Amino acid sequence: MAGDDVVVRLQGVRKAFNPGLPSEVEVLHGIDLQLRRGEFCAVVGPSGSGKSTLLNLIGLLDRPTAGTLAVCGQDTTHMDDAALTHLRGRSIGFVFQYHHLIGAFTALENVMMPMLGDAGFPTRAMRERALELLGRVGLNHRCDNLATHLSGGEQQRVAVARALAMRPAVLLADEPTGNLDTRSAEVVFGLLRDVNREQGTAVLFVTHNPALAARCDRTLEVVDGLVNPQAAVAG
Ligand code: ADP
Ligand code: MG
Repeated sequence: MAGDDVVVRLQGVRKAFNPGLPSEVEVLHGIDLQLRRGEFCAVVGPSGSGKSTLLNLIGLLDRPTAGTLAVCGQDTTHMDDAALTHLRGRSIGFVFQYHHLIGAFTALENVMMPMLGDAGFPTRAMRERALELLGRVGLNHRCDNLATHLSGGEQQRVAVARALAMRPAVLLADEPTGNLDTRSAEVVFGLLRDVNREQGTAVLFVTHNPALAARCDRTLEVVDGLVNPQAAVAG
């Protein structure tokens, strides 16, 4: 049964941009790592080292050029785009540094977005779930405000609520606090930590903030497209 709780597994994963062209550049050079259910893992390393590239692969927004990637026990190597999209929608939540909310939509509409078109969510259930999630991030009172009318910290809390809509097994947070003041960063970090503890959601949290990284369960250090091997091996 060992390994059943592994939600992300990379073996020998490489990523080159523009493969086969003169401008080809390999950014990730063979990454092995496992993320288990319930783990809260910091991802640190210099700018340009490959952190976002790594998260985009794990989030099934892009494909490795070599190696294997499995998400929630499913090997993605031979999946077509539709299968990847389906697995992504079911398994992965994203929070980015620049929230990527739709500014002309309300907070509530933004949180409902991932549920649209999902047969499991009739409109009423979507709305209730979105309200519940906005309550979770302390923003019930802002549900009808346009995203552009919210503060940066509030927008990022909406982004967290939206990321949780489909109850993902894995939450990928790429510098979610990078653009926030200290207090808002603390609130957003605390939300991610609570979700991780209460729901067992595995979290990859990219940060340049050593104090926040120190409060994660484990740290992956990405340097020049490789993960520090000691840190990559789970206990
Ligand atoms: P980090 O998130 O650690 O700052 P990135 O993963 O964004 O690093 O980038 C790693 C390297 O890959 C950088 O040198 C960057 O310029 C390069 N890179 C990222 N995306 C592309 C792309 N689409 N095409 C070519 N190079 C890219
Ligand atoms: Mg980055």
